[in-house]
Amino acid sequence: MKYVLVSGGVVSGLGKGVTASSIGLILKASGLRVTAIKIDPYFNTDAGTMSPFQHGEVFVLDDGAEVDLDLGNYERFMDIKLTSDNNITSGKIYQFVIDKERRGDYLGKTVQVVPHITDAIQEWIERVAHIPVDGKPGPADVCVIELGGTIGDIESMPFIQALGQFSYRVGSGNFCLVHVSLVPVVNVVGEQKTKPTQHSVRRLRGQGLTPHILACRSTTALDENAKGKLSQFCMIRAENIVTLYDVPNIWHIPLLLRDQKAHEAIFKVLNLNGVAREPSLEEWTCRAEAYDLLHEPVRIALVGKYTDLSDAYLSILKALVHASVDCQKKLFVDWILATNLEDATAKENPDAYKAAWKLLKGADGVLIPGGFGDRGVQGKIIAAKYARENRIPFLGICLGMQIAVVEFTRSVLGVHDANSTEFDPNAKSPVVIFMPEGSKTHMGGTMRLGSRRTFFQTKDCKSAKLYGCKGFIDERHRHRYEVNPDFVVRLENAGLSFTGKDETGKRMEIVELPNHPYFIGVQFHPEFKSRPGKPSPLFLGLIAAACGQLDTVLQHTSNLDSCGLSKAVGTDVSTIKAYNKKAVMKPAYRPEYVYGSLNGYHF
Ligand code: GLN
Repeated sequence: MKYVLVSGGVVSGLGKGVTASSIGLILKASGLRVTAIKIDPYFNTDAGTMSPFQHGEVFVLDDGAEVDLDLGNYERFMDIKLTSDNNITSGKIYQFVIDKERRGDYLGKTVQVVPHITDAIQEWIERVAHIPVDGKPGPADVCVIELGGTIGDIESMPFIQALGQFSYRVGSGNFCLVHVSLVPVVNVVGEQKTKPTQHSVRRLRGQGLTPHILACRSTTALDENAKGKLSQFCMIRAENIVTLYDVPNIWHIPLLLRDQKAHEAIFKVLNLNGVAREPSLEEWTCRAEAYDLLHEPVRIALVGKYTDLSDAYLSILKALVHASVDCQKKLFVDWILATNLEDATAKENPDAYKAAWKLLKGADGVLIPGGFGDRGVQGKIIAAKYARENRIPFLGICLGMQIAVVEFTRSVLGVHDANSTEFDPNAKSPVVIFMPEGSKTHMGGTMRLGSRRTFFQTKDCKSAKLYGCKGFIDERHRHRYEVNPDFVVRLENAGLSFTGKDETGKRMEIVELPNHPYFIGVQFHPEFKSRPGKPSPLFLGLIAAACGQLDTVLQHTSNLDSCGLSKAVGTDVSTIKAYNKKAVMKPAYRPEYVYGSLNGYHF
């Protein structure tokens, strides 16, 4: 097993996650099997309790782990499926050591950070690195480890100490450290400043870690002078210094690394010459270029709660991008704060109200993502009603599905007091209820989490066709509430179809309005399994419906026996190549508000 550690210096938010994912991708494209570990030095055991406002979305894995969003990037770039243990936190490590101490396993010794915490970290890394994550038996060839935070943080000290020991333990030739740092341009002359990077490398060395490769974030490529200085003062060969300069979209980062021969530097450090080949990234390159050339717009209104922070809906945005690139459309996401659609806002802040409604009315499709708590629920109900009545393509995810069902029950069944017991525990007509898999009395640990199976009730519905008419699908969940089975017959009689259910038939997984161009709600989160080139079927359906291509997509997908969607619209390499040739627009930076900014990269 070979290890590539990615650390960060100078400031946070440099894009370590994207760099780690991109390294994984080029190694995989070189014929190696890869896995990934994210180290988060915080004390939360997992990301489940952390606010999306502070930390961005909580990513959910197949095994139900609630983890840092970087694991989502690893899964998407490397096309792997990680486990709970691939996200190490201080909380997990300390808990492990304290539990061991309570059992008396340390035989009376004084339990200390060194060696007990540091040993636990090393054992954890070694154990987890050997778990297969690409569906094939046996361990991967290379494990990419990302150390969260910035060198110098107090929290990360035990990890740095452990990783220093670890590099020694696995031996040279098996450990490669890539240090991601910042080279700012501070004065009017535009000089690239190397001092912050020099300091951070010195600090790294002082703590026992020797960087092999420097990946410098800067606005433009490093000039020779800056590179020379870095090489001299950091004692790193010039060919091992790469620049991660600004690119139009993050799919270019692996290409940037490849073009600067980062893979060759890694192969050399890890003695992989002769084992790994030149990375073949033809398909990836096509897609990255196609992404820049898209110009016909598709506008999706995202009606949510955390609209100030695009990272809070990262996987949703990614899934929308994957689907739009497939449909050869340029995605515009119009963020609508749900409360701004409510009548109360019309009085308190008429401008915000008008602006929100203008966006909703201008949208080609509406998406209501997952969420918790009752803020903005009324606004989301209004948005679902608008989409239903005006035949605008609609996708409701988790809370979004529950909202759509509450709205339908109120407006179509005429049950005006219908509600979810999440928002009104004493609701007279509880159409969405607390349906935990475990205890009904304890909230802690009652979330239905991770991969669960959904069985299609008919092949003759849009969702089954989009998924390639398979009998069942496995998607990831994260919720406590569900549609009340007692309402299902009445709702179905009124025209709402429950086209996907769990194996007991009691849990409603997919709801559709057959007479609507595209109105689908799902209890699961399809966004977590979307990949570049393999968009989530339901996102593809939404975008295709929003730009008038749904029939074409359905014709293709309904004949597939798996979700091999690649030929559905145009994501196969030859079609994209043809598109790239035809496209007349020059690559351009997208407006920030459309793509947000992920860890310093525009996406
Ligand atoms: N709050 C809802 C529930 O717990 C929806 C959760 C979600 O959207 N992830 O069921």
